[in-house]
Amino acid sequence: MTRQYVDCREFPSDMNCSVAIAADTDQELLEAAVQHAVAVHHHEDSPELRQQIRQLFKEGTPPMAVSRKQPA
Ligand SMILES: [Zn+2]
Repeated sequence: MTRQYVDCREFPSDMNCSVAIAADTDQELLEAAVQHAVAVHHHEDSPELRQQIRQLFKEGTPPMAVSRKQPA
């Protein structure tokens, strides 16, 4: 399976979170990302949250630098 990642730097964040999480399986990545979202971003673990996080997955590994999207 292709390595996948989610990168907090791509999203507007109150705390300017710079964490990126990568894993070899989407299940591992989802678990790690959910734990991060709950612990750091105070989201509630729910099927909806997991669904949203899955949509943020990207193939490959996190790049060295990412320009953060500005809040609309
Ligand atoms: Zn984060």
